[in-house]
Amino acid sequence: METKTFADLGLSPKVQAAIAAAGYVNPTPIQAAAIPVAVTGRDVLGIAQTGTGKTASFVLPMITRLETGRARARMPRSLILAPTRELAAQVAQSFEKYGVNHKLSLALLIGGVSMDDQVKKLDRGVDVLIATPGRLLDHFGRGRVMLMGVEILVIDEADRMLDMGFIPDIEKICKLFPPRRQTLFFSATMPPEITRLVDQFLTNPERIEVAKPATTAKTITQRFVYCPNGEDWAKREVLRDMIRNGNVKNAIIFCNRKRDVAVLYKSLSKHGFNAGALHGDMDQTSRMDTLDKFRNGEIMLLAASDVAARGLDIPDVSHVFNFDLPWAADDYVHRIGRTGRAGREGYAASLVSPDDLKFVKDIEKITGETPVWLGEPPTEEDIAGAGKRRRGRGGRGHEKSGKPHRGQQSGHRDQKPSGDRQRSHAPARAAKSPPPPGHGEQPHVQDRPPSEPKRPQQPRAAKHSEQPKVDAWTDQPRAPRRTEGTPEKRQPAHEQSRKSPPPPQQKSGDRLGFAENMPAFMRKPARPIKVPGRG
Ligand code: AMP
Repeated sequence: METKTFADLGLSPKVQAAIAAAGYVNPTPIQAAAIPVAVTGRDVLGIAQTGTGKTASFVLPMITRLETGRARARMPRSLILAPTRELAAQVAQSFEKYGVNHKLSLALLIGGVSMDDQVKKLDRGVDVLIATPGRLLDHFGRGRVMLMGVEILVIDEADRMLDMGFIPDIEKICKLFPPRRQTLFFSATMPPEITRLVDQFLTNPERIEVAKPATTAKTITQRFVYCPNGEDWAKREVLRDMIRNGNVKNAIIFCNRKRDVAVLYKSLSKHGFNAGALHGDMDQTSRMDTLDKFRNGEIMLLAASDVAARGLDIPDVSHVFNFDLPWAADDYVHRIGRTGRAGREGYAASLVSPDDLKFVKDIEKITGETPVWLGEPPTEEDIAGAGKRRRGRGGRGHEKSGKPHRGQQSGHRDQKPSGDRQRSHAPARAAKSPPPPGHGEQPHVQDRPPSEPKRPQQPRAAKHSEQPKVDAWTDQPRAPRRTEGTPEKRQPAHEQSRKSPPPPQQKSGDRLGFAENMPAFMRKPARPIKVPGRG
């Protein structure tokens, strides 16, 4: 099949000029497939992720179609619904970029910013309205916007809207439009709720599916670090080691919950790192401000939640850390796709608590890559036990099961005097703990439990002996394993750093990562892990 150029897609000359000015040479696959359909006015169902060029695949045909006709007061001609403020703001930037040769008017209805200007624009009439669902319904309810004039509706990142509970809002909104409108609908995945929405509100759509970008780009080095003590304070210690020793230029550190983003941000700042936070509870001004600072290098580390970080165009991130493994494997691919972009080398490291082990299997399935562990990998016993532990909000699964696991025997759990510990344990135990510090956590030294039980000896040599013996850093045959069951084996990182001799100087070559001055917990060789039930 012949490769299409932008000139083949039916876009107006003015739009093509803007594309050339943006420096784009060839359309991406989603653009090549969606634009020729969208410019004719037909509905499109695009199954594509961020990073595929999907924004331009709807913005460019929209601008072309909006060249004729004019806006009427309070009746936008087109509407784009996006799940988050940042995404909405980013789509607005795309209109600015691709619409440089046009005089289209645009309003942005998102939370956290003053609406006066936007409402004035709406009163005058806009060609394009970009909104988050809640904000739109709010303004609709106040009679500030009418939707009967919408000719083109775009729903972006529908599956993310589902995750965020916006589907009832979307259904409400879709019923407010004239029946004869064009709908361009984008989703990275198609769960049943989304399929139902498509069946209900799209008319004979052209279904266009593009391969996931970066089902882990080859330029991304991925590593996993098993944290047998799955407590957040222990993970923060591991993370700090990695940042200090990892040749990190800038990094996004993902947490699963916004409150954990806030805690991690405070902790990093307290430990002297140049950090910022991005999560859904922050007001719009500080989110934008943080993001700008991260983009221009004023902030080096960005603790972020998925909701806040999804779809953001942040070029040139040297490292991604998963402080928590994401609950959905898709999110893993999405998160690590923030590094290793445009052929650059990138590095993604994920901290894995015992409860997170079950997600590693899903990640392996979706990426098709065998996880490579830094330091000691989990045992097969750990992995087998992973699905059995239950996880509660804000706590670790083992707390609910009542069955302590390796490194966390009952008896030492209440000893840790940090605010995090108190937060993550049951109130009965919390009563025994000293009160939490004013905010965040204790200083570094107090951040540790007074003593950490040794991990029990396990007959593991035979199980692992047939596995490839490759060093994670050099990808060279690794040194012989330390004898199984030695007392210092499986010590937590901080104990290793106190007791172990200085690390052997390892050569990093030109690999981006942590090879030089490798922290204590990484000194042991790593190798791929065999997941039971897989070949
Ligand atoms: P998106 O998937 O819409 O978030 O786009 C991801 C990135 O790709 C953005 O930085 C766009 O500016 C860029 N982009 C979109 N289309 C093209 C293209 N045809 N050629 C080069 N870069 C593009």
